[in-house]
Amino acid sequence: MEKLLNELPSSDVAAYTIKSDIKIDVKVPEHLKRSISLGLPSITENNLLRHFTNLSRKNYALSTVFYPLGSCTMKHNPLINERIVKSEAFNSIHPYQPTESLQGAFEIMYGLEKDLCELTGMDYFSLQQAAGAHGEFAGLLVIAKYFKSIKQSRTKIIIPDSAHGTNPASASLAGFEIISLKSESDGTVLPEKLKKILTSEVAAVMLTVPNTLGTFEKNILEISKIVHKNGSLLYYDGANLNAVMGIVKPGHMGFDVMHINLHKTFSAPHGGGGPGSGPIGVKSFLEPFIPIPRIEKNKSKFTLNYKKSESIGRLKSFFGNFHVILKAYIYIKALGGKGLVSVSEQAVLNANYMLARLRNKVDIPAGDRCMHEFVLSPKSLFRDNIKTLDVAKRLLDYNYYAPTIYFPLIVEEAIMIEPTETESKETLDTFIDILSKILFDEIIKEPQKIKEAPINTTVCRLNEVEAARNPILKWKKQ
Ligand SMILES: *Cc1c(COP(=O)(O)O)cnc(C)c1O
Repeated sequence: MEKLLNELPSSDVAAYTIKSDIKIDVKVPEHLKRSISLGLPSITENNLLRHFTNLSRKNYALSTVFYPLGSCTMKHNPLINERIVKSEAFNSIHPYQPTESLQGAFEIMYGLEKDLCELTGMDYFSLQQAAGAHGEFAGLLVIAKYFKSIKQSRTKIIIPDSAHGTNPASASLAGFEIISLKSESDGTVLPEKLKKILTSEVAAVMLTVPNTLGTFEKNILEISKIVHKNGSLLYYDGANLNAVMGIVKPGHMGFDVMHINLHKTFSAPHGGGGPGSGPIGVKSFLEPFIPIPRIEKNKSKFTLNYKKSESIGRLKSFFGNFHVILKAYIYIKALGGKGLVSVSEQAVLNANYMLARLRNKVDIPAGDRCMHEFVLSPKSLFRDNIKTLDVAKRLLDYNYYAPTIYFPLIVEEAIMIEPTETESKETLDTFIDILSKILFDEIIKEPQKIKEAPINTTVCRLNEVEAARNPILKWKKQ
């Protein structure tokens, strides 16, 4: 961009003032200028309003439907937090302001780092990363840098096959080779199996606790011992912290590095591609390696420290997604320690209530108990070539967002349900009633309807392959 700007003759066509003392004049070359009108539709305000309101009604959102999307923690987020974030005080600041005038924002970020340490038992946090996968990438770069600093060549990462797909993707992007570990049917890891594949080349073992089947890793302390004895580190995928807040801390379980998805547990929605935030936490021996700049507190003043020679560097512009960070801070302060514990307790209770209603009727590979979510495998109920995809589509007809399906990969025909703590018993009951109607009644009586579903929605069943390969993206009717 800078090169392009330099090549253009300076004139007064457009002037961008980036900083008050830098002025760049840009002249758009004649041949790049539009010669015909863009032909934008002209429309009255009320018609425009109707258009967007009607579009929004065609959308699925938590404000209109139950959204039991496993692994995504689609909980209701307090509206007051949105209002605070939009207030003038937070919306009118800019990261290029002098640091003296950003003290309030730094205080919040510094405070959130400390709160996350308290919540997780880690020693330091960095808030810069923009998503869970970005946090994983950062954490793995920290691990790589650490081993380089102690002159050990460790190039492999062990990841159970029940893990989220971002785990192996991040490890590969960070330059590691992945060793896949076959997990047990409930997604947990057998210490003896892990022991067999741990070699001096293994840098870290990445675990999700509770795992993607909603089971707590009951042998975690033994696993931690085995991993550390081997000189390797333990990474905690804390994308879904909703089950464990104030109940158990990754730092106490022996984890050295972790990430959290603020946009799942802490008051920013996941799903739909909005801005996220994936803070990473580390034990103190890894602090020199985390991203810069670090916010430091000297007496009552906050400063930015860029001079950390061993840091993996900067991973995102400015200071991360400040609004998501701010919402997490408000959420934690508003609920307090006890409030966070009750969030987790209620989330686990709600999931177990739903599981209990389906127990003995549908196969649940991880058994009778779960943490914040559970996974069904309704394969034995299927006939007439009906699949999990069809059941998910049929749920749309009843005005539900479909649960996560075909994940984790180790469960055949998986349906992954995460109700979250913010749903009422009535909502959970009606959803289970409808799911049961589809699974136990409609599959037998109306299989064709399920194969064709959704039939009540604005857009009916799509050919998903065709839609992905040959998207029709045009706004003008031809
Ligand atoms: C959501 C999730 C991730 C990835 O987070 P993104 O913000 O989508 O990158 C990683 N691991 C688990 C277990 C998750 O649920």
